[in-house]
Amino acid sequence: MLKCEVIKDLLPLYIDKVCSRESATLIEEHLAGCSSCRLEWENLQSAIPLPLQTVDNNRRDGLVLKAISSYWGRTKLKAFMKGAMLSSLTIGLLVLAYFGLTQWHIMKVPADLVVIEDVGKMKDGRIAFHLRLTDDYDLNQISYDMDEEGNFYMTPYRPIIKKKRVAPVGLFNMYQALDSFLNEVYKSRFGADTHIKALYIVTRDEHILVWQEGMSLPPASLAAEEELKR
Ligand SMILES: [Zn+2]
Repeated sequence: MLKCEVIKDLLPLYIDKVCSRESATLIEEHLAGCSSCRLEWENLQSAIPLPLQTVDNNRRDGLVLKAISSYWGRTKLKAFMKGAMLSSLTIGLLVLAYFGLTQWHIMKVPADLVVIEDVGKMKDGRIAFHLRLTDDYDLNQISYDMDEEGNFYMTPYRPIIKKKRVAPVGLFNMYQALDSFLNEVYKSRFGADTHIKALYIVTRDEHILVWQEGMSLPPASLAAEEELKR
């Protein structure tokens, strides 16, 4: 038989239906045979004046807190929180590192992987060339840079952890063109009376010259005309 004290402590939880099914059964069994507790239950059931309810709420909160702290124990709870924070921090760092290493395009490619072919002048005046990387990895970004000498640089970049190619065609194997758009970009940086005088592919080891002013170029191939068609 449970003590009436305990039952009376649990009654507010029972009335609010927030105690376990097991506790509810125990309380009901007790109420069936204890008029004192039943009276208390009836009192709590009927409209409770506000001050009393506040007291009851406090008592209830106290009970819940007591239950939590006795379950965890202070140190256990602390250790759990610390562990949870550390593991989420670790996961956060791992996610960051993963995205950093696989998505951040920071690595230039070695010069010996780069093949420049089919440099030619297109019918509309653009200078076309084919850029190909000879290994099996993807190329996800080509950055542009330029200087006041008229040099224009295209720099292929890869993430630190490079990805295998999934398609036959991509930045690692396609025609590029030095076109009026890039010249406009250049002019907007260095002035309307300037223009691009040389084009380089920048690699880890060297700048590979693709074209420079005065170089005699053959007409671009049909493949170039076809791929760079607008
Ligand atoms: Zn009782």
